[in-house]
Amino acid sequence: MSAQLLDGKAASAAIRREVLSRAQCLSPAPSLCAVLVGDDPASALYVRNKERACAESGIRSVFRRLPSSTTQAELLELVRELNADPDVDGILVQSPLPRGLNETELVNAISPWKDVDCFHPENVGLLVAGTPRFLPCTPAGVQRLLVLNSIETAGKHVVVVGRSNIVGKPMANIMLQKASGANATVTVCHTGTRDMGYYTRQADILIVAAGRPNVITGDMVKAGAVVVDVGMNEVEDASAPRGKRFVGDVDFGAASEVASWITPVPGGVGPMTVAILMENTLRAAELRDMRR
Ligand code: NAP
Repeated sequence: MSAQLLDGKAASAAIRREVLSRAQCLSPAPSLCAVLVGDDPASALYVRNKERACAESGIRSVFRRLPSSTTQAELLELVRELNADPDVDGILVQSPLPRGLNETELVNAISPWKDVDCFHPENVGLLVAGTPRFLPCTPAGVQRLLVLNSIETAGKHVVVVGRSNIVGKPMANIMLQKASGANATVTVCHTGTRDMGYYTRQADILIVAAGRPNVITGDMVKAGAVVVDVGMNEVEDASAPRGKRFVGDVDFGAASEVASWITPVPGGVGPMTVAILMENTLRAAELRDMRR
């Protein structure tokens, strides 16, 4: 292997320490409420990780677990209650929601001042305009990982694979801003792209968020490129403790032979996402104090 690892665990620990020191200056402490509906095991794990990160970052976590029989009207009522609660700074609704619940309607009901996932249309608009209130957690985590490792983005060709509202689109938007840690030339690939390798082989920085293992093979990576793998795919592996393990979207072994830097999965983008969520919650609390 020739590529250096982009270590998301170390970078996220540094961000959490910084959040802790700023959170200790606030009274009351920043607080995050995550709403978890149903019993999806992966969602329960993500919420536990967020709870642990809150504890390490000086953030109070107020988690609301609801049965999968909860109705849309009941959830909307809960969101309205949390919007009005002065003791709650940040609200997130853990996805996926059980079938029949409308996630978009719920996200749009969250106060934009408490929307720490940065999914509300008002916050998406502010991001696109280059005047963000909050930053979307995963794409901002990718950007921070590059900045903390002194990887230049200005003038570079960034190719993003994936155009979801959660990762691909905001990632492209962040990287094209005329700002430090950005100012790149951006190409976005998706399932409608013909000959994706033609674009990925031109990438100085290749950011992959497709949700498909091995969508990027070694021959699709330019020599010396920086490869950021956002994908988290659970695959069968008889030798793994639970018979399953997580892999990214990139063929890690082959890509790390040609890339200059590469993220591991897990331990790359995942911890950064949670760290930016902590930063956003801190920011929501600081904005709460400024708006008083
Ligand atoms: P998503 O909503 O399913 O979007 C996937 C995107 O990739 C779509 O735009 C799709 O194109 C594109 N795509 C899929 N297969 C492709 C292919 N073969 N070639 C080109 N484009 C392809 O997924 P997401 O929410 O963005 O998440 C992507 C991955 O990142 C998942 O594995 C998810 O678990 C992971 N993730 C990780 C974190 C983290 O913190 N580590 C956070 C969020 C997501 P179309 O639009 O044309 O369908």
